[in-house]
Parts: sequence; structure tokens; C-alpha cells
Amino acid sequence: MLNGLMMDTQLTVNSIRDFASQVHAASELVSVTGDGGVQHFSYAESFARAGQLANALLQAGILAGDRVATLAWNDHRHFELYYGISGLGAVCHTINPRLFPEQIQYIINHAEDRLLFVDPQFLPLLEKLADNLAGVEQIILLSDDAHVPDSSIPGLVSYESFIGAHSAAVPWPELDERSASSLCYTSGTTGNPKGVLYSHRSTVLHAYAGALPDSLNLSGRDVVMPIVPMFHVNAWGIPYSAAMVGAKLVLPGARMGDGKALYQLIESEGVTVSAGVPTVWLALLAYLQASGQTLTRLQRIIVGGAACPVSIMEDFRERHGVQVIHAWGMTETSPLGTINTPRSASEAEPGPLRDKLQALQGRPVFGVDLRIVAADGNLQPRDGKASGEVQVRGPWICSGYFGRESATSHTTDGWFKTGDIATLSPAGIMHITDRVKDVIKSGGEWISSIDLENAAVGHPAIREAAVIGVPHPRWTERPLLIAVLEAGKNVSAADLLAWLEGRIARWWIPADVQFVAELPHTATGKLNKVALREQFKDYSLPPE
Ligand code: ADP
Repeated sequence: MLNGLMMDTQLTVNSIRDFASQVHAASELVSVTGDGGVQHFSYAESFARAGQLANALLQAGILAGDRVATLAWNDHRHFELYYGISGLGAVCHTINPRLFPEQIQYIINHAEDRLLFVDPQFLPLLEKLADNLAGVEQIILLSDDAHVPDSSIPGLVSYESFIGAHSAAVPWPELDERSASSLCYTSGTTGNPKGVLYSHRSTVLHAYAGALPDSLNLSGRDVVMPIVPMFHVNAWGIPYSAAMVGAKLVLPGARMGDGKALYQLIESEGVTVSAGVPTVWLALLAYLQASGQTLTRLQRIIVGGAACPVSIMEDFRERHGVQVIHAWGMTETSPLGTINTPRSASEAEPGPLRDKLQALQGRPVFGVDLRIVAADGNLQPRDGKASGEVQVRGPWICSGYFGRESATSHTTDGWFKTGDIATLSPAGIMHITDRVKDVIKSGGEWISSIDLENAAVGHPAIREAAVIGVPHPRWTERPLLIAVLEAGKNVSAADLLAWLEGRIARWWIPADVQFVAELPHTATGKLNKVALREQFKDYSLPPE
């Protein structure tokens, strides 16, 4: 072999920090916190504070490989934790506060977290768990001194006093790019959550890919606001991609489900691009509808984490001139897997056809190898019809779970089995139709619960919909539609079913509709079908 004569410098989170502190020193970081309101920092100031944090961590005895956890919303302190912890070779373990308390306790103990950095609003939760977190040496409250409440937790200090006395100059170590940088557990609807351990290399490569024009298309001219939480898959890598390109970063704090707060921040800070799961966009659109306001600065949003209903795309396009880009991924894929940026003229065609195309999950990003495999193990053709499980591999796809060697979800030839069912079109566009565990098989054919749910929320009186399979003597299973009505609106089951006629295949028409006040969700905001099937386990279909 003839080796190339190129330098072998390491792809580390520190390299992003060093580059951004020099080249994008003056780029802005805007942060909303409970104790400081809306604050403005430069990247240079933020990285200096991350340096102070790193020195405080060194003094607390944090070593390379140690896990340091966060339970926090998106703000400047969380950003500093991302860079300060990983920069030392320690692991920034972001915890989802929406998980059940017993899952949070399990995760902290399983990860063997030594320190916990916690937003004040999660303190009551931790006070209940504190006795069962033997390995945690100290809890640091993400606030200034004035906002530290009385607490049963001994030795509670504020973040500002924890870092305050320290210098910003740090003896940063030279890190191996394969060393771990951060850790995020999946929500685990069944069984215990599993930890996905990202490396410096995977994080940097993913940040490059995320910034590409056909990905999130981030540049130094953008103002980007991740509404996806920093506790969930590194906020889709945006805190790294934004620093790489020097985009202004707006971190909206705890009020990420508050349409009014989001609208005001978008307008006042000039946000051009944002990213989040469908639910946050529904909250924003509901506020805009009720208040009659229009988005004047936002150009595009990236929607992922669950299938994006066409109605969201229509609303953003028609009323606000905002482009919706649909993306697919998961904790195990860092998360960027596929993204649906229109490419050809026909894909960019205006109106309903485009929405239909844009509702698909898109093409894989370079770095993600993707294939569809049938239940019998055979590779499926890319014909837009044959479906199977999505399998992926690449430098930012997990190769196993932290501390759970036996729990892998990989094929013997090294592909990660996602548990999602999809088709791939000849143009390479993926269409997710279901989760392996949620498929509805009727008369030997699969019905896509995702497509059916999307069709149902297209009805103006339906706010949210879920479809599960229920046993049927002749067809094995038939779909049951469970729907939540839009406030102040009404539709009967019969009218809804009649409305669906012609919009979906005849044999997909649900066998019945049940209306509920609300649907159960997982900690990452997805429909919780396990809970829903349990709720409807005694349900039987009306006689035909
Ligand atoms: P959790 O921790 O809840 O598993 P993830 O973000 O890892 O959270 O969930 C990933 C799953 O979310 C995917 O496997 C897929 O089922 C679903 N998902 C993500 N994006 C989309 C999308 N655009 N369309 C349909 N499903 C999606």
C-alpha cells in the first residue's frame, strides 16, 4: 500500500471549538434562561466560559472517559457543557427530563454519572431521586447564585459560582478522534433505555454532513434556532454544525412548546432556519392562526423525529412562505439519516403534488449507507413498492450500546437494524410506512399506519390521529383510527370515514373510529403505540 502524504490531525469537538473561536469569534449566541431572560454572547465569550467550566471540572477531579450529565433545556450553559465536558475527553451525557423518573434514575446509575448539571425546574424531580443516585458526587444548578432555592440536596451550588473563579485558559488534552464525546439514551418504550455513545469523529463528520446544502444548509449567513432539545440526539448536531459555519445560534430555553414565545424570538432575532419535531410546529401554527401573526424572517424549517403531516407543510408554505424540509433519523444515527430537500423541477413543483413528495423522508446523506431488507432477509428492490426494514451503516451510526454488549441490533454483516419499515424509490427517496412493531397486516397485505394517520389529520376537525391494528376473524387485522378533535370542531366517525374515501386505498379505510381527549406520547414526543394498544386491548370491532 502507498500511504497518502496528508496530515493525520484528529477530528474532535475541540477542533470545532478552536476553529470557531478564531474564525467565527464574533458570531452570536442568543440564550433564553429562567434567571437571565434573553442574553447575547459572542462565540468567543461562550467558548471562554466553556474553558472556565473545563477548569472547574478538572478541579472536581473529572478525568477523560468520566460521564458528566445534564438535565437541561437549550441555553448557553448547555452549549458550554457540550464543549467544556467533551473538550476534556469526558463524556457529556444529556438526559431527557421527560422520561419516567425511574428511567432517569436507571440511566444516571447505568452511565455512572459523576456530576449532574440541572435546570432549576428539574430540581424537585432530582430531590425525589437523590437518595438512589449513590455515584453522583455533586449536583450543580444551572443558574446564578440568586436563583438557588432551598433544597434537600446537600452541597447544591450554582453553575455561575462553580465556574466563576476559574480561568478561561485550559490545558486541553490532545484527544483521539475515536474517543467518546457524548452519550444519549433512547427512550425505550419497551425494556430499559439504551445508551448511544458518540465519538469525536462521528460528531465532527455528522456536523459536516448536517451543514451541507442538501442537508440543513447552514451557513454563516443563517440564524439557526434548534427547537429540538439539546437533551435529544445533540439537538440534531446543530450546536456543532452552527459553530463550524459561524451561524448565529438562538437557544430558546424552556419555552420550546410555547408558540408565542417562539414566534417572538424568531422575529426579534431574525431566525432564518429552525428544526424540530411535528408537535412544536403545531404549537407555533396554532398561535399564528389564533393571533393572526405572520412569520416574516423564517425561510425554512427541518421537521423530523416523526412523520410530518402534509397539513403542516401546506400551512407553512401558503400562509408564511416557509419551506418545510422533512428528515428522518434516530438516536442511533446521530440522528441525520435521510433528508428530503427538493432537487429536480418536479420535486420542487408548487402545490399539493410537491407536498405529497415532500411528505416522504428523502434521500440518505453521504455517509449513510441505506438498504431495505425483507423479513426473509432478502434485499428489496428500489422500486418504490417493495417494503422492508431499513438497515443503515456509516461513520455516525452506532455499532453497539454503552454497557449493553448483548443488546445490539445489528446484522452479522455489520448493518444497524432500525426497526422502521420503508420503501425506496428508483430516485433513492425513502418512504417510511411503519415501525416493525406497529405494522398492520390485513388480508396478507400491509397497511401503512403512518400514511393513514397523515390522511386523517388532513381533515380540518382532526388535530391528531393514531392507527393500531385490531384482531379481525377474516382479515387477521383491521385498522382502528383513534383521533383527537381540534378544539371547537366536530366530525362524526361516519363522516370522517366517508371523507377518507378516495384519499386512501379502499381496503385501508379504518374499520372504526374512536375519539379520545388525548393520545399517549413517549418522552421524545412520538405516539406511544404500546400504551395505546394496552388502552384498547379489550376493544372489539363493531359487527359488519
Ligand atoms: P426514541 O428515543 O424515541 O427512539 P428517536 O429519535 O431515536 O427517539 O426515534 C427514532 C424513530 O423516530 C425512528 O426510528 C422512526 O421510527 C421515527 N422517525 C424519526 N423521523 C421520522 C420521520 N421523518 N418520519 C417517520 N418516522 C420518523
